[in-house]
Amino acid sequence: MGKIVAKFGGSSLSDAGQFHKVRDILQMDPRRCYVVPSAPGRRFDDDEKITDLLYRTYQLKEEGKDYHSTFALVRERFLTITKDLGLSLNMAGALEEIENRLEAGCGRDYCASRGEYLNGLILADFLGFPFLDPKDFVLFEADGSFSSERTQELLSGILKDLETAVIPGFYGSLPDGSIHTFSRGGSDISGAIVARAAYADVYENWTDVNGFLMADPKVVANALPIRNITYRELRELSYMGATVLHEDSVFPVHRAGIPTNIRNTNHPEHQGTMITHGAVGEINPYVITGIAGKTGFSVISVEKAMMNVERGFGRRVLQAVEEAGLSFEHLPTGIDTLCVVLSSEELKPRKEQVISRIMELTSPDTLTIHDNMGLIATVGRGMVHNPGTAARLFTALSKAHVNVRMIDQGSSELSILVGVDHQDFEAAIRAIYHEFVGM
Ligand code: ASP
Repeated sequence: MGKIVAKFGGSSLSDAGQFHKVRDILQMDPRRCYVVPSAPGRRFDDDEKITDLLYRTYQLKEEGKDYHSTFALVRERFLTITKDLGLSLNMAGALEEIENRLEAGCGRDYCASRGEYLNGLILADFLGFPFLDPKDFVLFEADGSFSSERTQELLSGILKDLETAVIPGFYGSLPDGSIHTFSRGGSDISGAIVARAAYADVYENWTDVNGFLMADPKVVANALPIRNITYRELRELSYMGATVLHEDSVFPVHRAGIPTNIRNTNHPEHQGTMITHGAVGEINPYVITGIAGKTGFSVISVEKAMMNVERGFGRRVLQAVEEAGLSFEHLPTGIDTLCVVLSSEELKPRKEQVISRIMELTSPDTLTIHDNMGLIATVGRGMVHNPGTAARLFTALSKAHVNVRMIDQGSSELSILVGVDHQDFEAAIRAIYHEFVGM
C-alpha cells in the first residue's frame, strides 16, 4: 500500500472540533499514515495564533516584562483542546515544563516551536499514533541552514519501521542540540521533508481553502480554483505573489517526484489543487492556469542606437546594478533598448548611484525610469499549444484601456509577463481573467 503524508495547517487544528475533522479525514484513506501538524491557528477573525502568542511571550520575557498572562492564553488553549477531546494526557505537566524553561532563559526558537510540539502530543494521543520529536532527526547546520541529506538519511531509516506517526512541523535542532525553526509558515517545509523521507505517493497539505485560485480573490471575485498545476507553473505564480504554500516546501517533494495536493479540511470532498512534476493528462479548459501579479516595481530603460553591436553593453548595465547591491527581477530587451526591472523599495535609496554609474559605463542616448509599475504574469503550460494566446491577452487589455508598458515572454512559453501602471493593475488582471476564464 502506498503512503500519504498529511500536513495540517493551524486553522485545521485550532480547536477540538477541527481535530475531529482531521481524524475523519485520516480514516477516509488508510494510506494517510504520517501526520505533520502546525500549532493551533485562529478560530475566528481576530483570534490569535498560538505561534504569535509564543513569540510575544518570549519578547515580553526578554524585555523583563510580565509574560505570564500571555503564556496563560497559550496554556488555556491547549488545556481546553485536551479537555474537549476527552484525553487524559498530562498537558498541564508539559506546559509547566515549558514555563520553567522560559524562566530559566530558553531560546526564542524553542519557545516558538512549542505550539507544534504540544499540538503534536495531543494529536498523537488522540489518534493513537506514535509521537516523533523532530529535534532528533530534522537537522540544521550551525549556521542555521537546513541539512537536507542528513535529515533524509535519518528520517527515512526511522519511518521504515513505523506504520504511523505524528511529527510536529516547523522545527528541528542545531548541532548543539538546541531547537531551531524554519521561517514562518515552515510546517509546510516539514511536511515536504517527511513526504520525501517516507517515499510518499502524495504530500497532502490540508488548509482552509479549496486550493490555489486562478487569480487573487480580492481582485477577481469568485476566481475559480486550479485543479492541476505543475511545479514550474507554481513557481512562476508564487514568484509573482500568489501564496498558499511556503516557497521552500516545494523543493524536497519536487525533486523526489512526489505530487503535492492542497486540500481543504473544512471541505474534504473537494479535490483541491494537485501540483505535479509534468503536465497531467487532463486538458485545462482555460488555456491559462493562473494569473498573479505584484506592484511596486521600477523600470530603468536604457536606450542606445546600435546597442546590439556594442559588446558588453548588457554586462555593463548589470554591473552598475550589481555594484549598488541590487538584484533585478526581469530584463526585457528590444533592439536598441534594455530594461532592468527592480523593486522600487530596494532601488529608492540607491537610485542616483545606479543611474550615474550606468551613464558612466554605457553612455546611453537616453535613460528613463518609470516607477509605480505593476507586473502581471499570466501562466499556463497550455499556452505552448495554443497559437493566438498573446493576441487574446493584449486585445483584452486594450479593450479595457490598459496601457501595456512592458512585455516579457520567456522562450518556454510558460508565462507572459506584462508591466502596467499601478492604477491599471487590478483592471488588467480582471480583463485577462475574463478573457480566458469568463465572468
Ligand atoms: N506555526 C508556525 C507559524 O505560524 C509554522 C506554521 O504554521 O507553518 O508560522
